[in-house]
Amino acid sequence: MIVSADLHIHTTASDGLNSPKEVVLAAFYKGLNVIAITDHDTFQGALMAQRYVGSLDLLVIIGCEVSSVKGDVLLLCDSPINTPREISELIDVAHENNCLVIPAHPFDDQRNSVGEDIYNYKWDAIEVYNGSSAEHANRMAQYAAKVMGLPGIGNSDAHSIDKIGIVYNNIEVKDLTIDDIFDSIKKSKVKIVIKKNS
Ligand SMILES: [Zn+2]
Repeated sequence: MIVSADLHIHTTASDGLNSPKEVVLAAFYKGLNVIAITDHDTFQGALMAQRYVGSLDLLVIIGCEVSSVKGDVLLLCDSPINTPREISELIDVAHENNCLVIPAHPFDDQRNSVGEDIYNYKWDAIEVYNGSSAEHANRMAQYAAKVMGLPGIGNSDAHSIDKIGIVYNNIEVKDLTIDDIFDSIKKSKVKIVIKKNS
């Protein structure tokens, strides 16, 4: 089956404008099947969202956006882990815990981004389309993913509920589980959907 996933969303646990509860309800009503809450350097937003989701048919991935020494990095997990700021260490810890490590908006020069250092690390995927980044920055990320032979994903990077799902991924999975979703991302079974530019 195909599931719709926006894997980069902020809440009031960091600099987002809406609470985890509001984000869960908005994502559900917009028809998404999966969201990752990725607040800056905290899993709290994701944990609260997972609590609020209750019996709604929506899977919450426990994420955060780590302020690494080189720039912002998305960490997607099924439960919180330690988040070292050095990227090689972060990748090691993440992989020991079956998490995914994905550079966020890697070539966005308006934000804290890894830039050319992207070529030095073993990522699981690259955020090749970020709903808040300029088109040229997204194109550079797409080029990097191609050169590195890595899967690309696209996300809204929503800081308010109106932006949730402006960019998302249709992912082919067997079951709606975090394991299946991570597996399909690594195998590039992802089609990015862009509803509108920011
Ligand atoms: Zn972000």
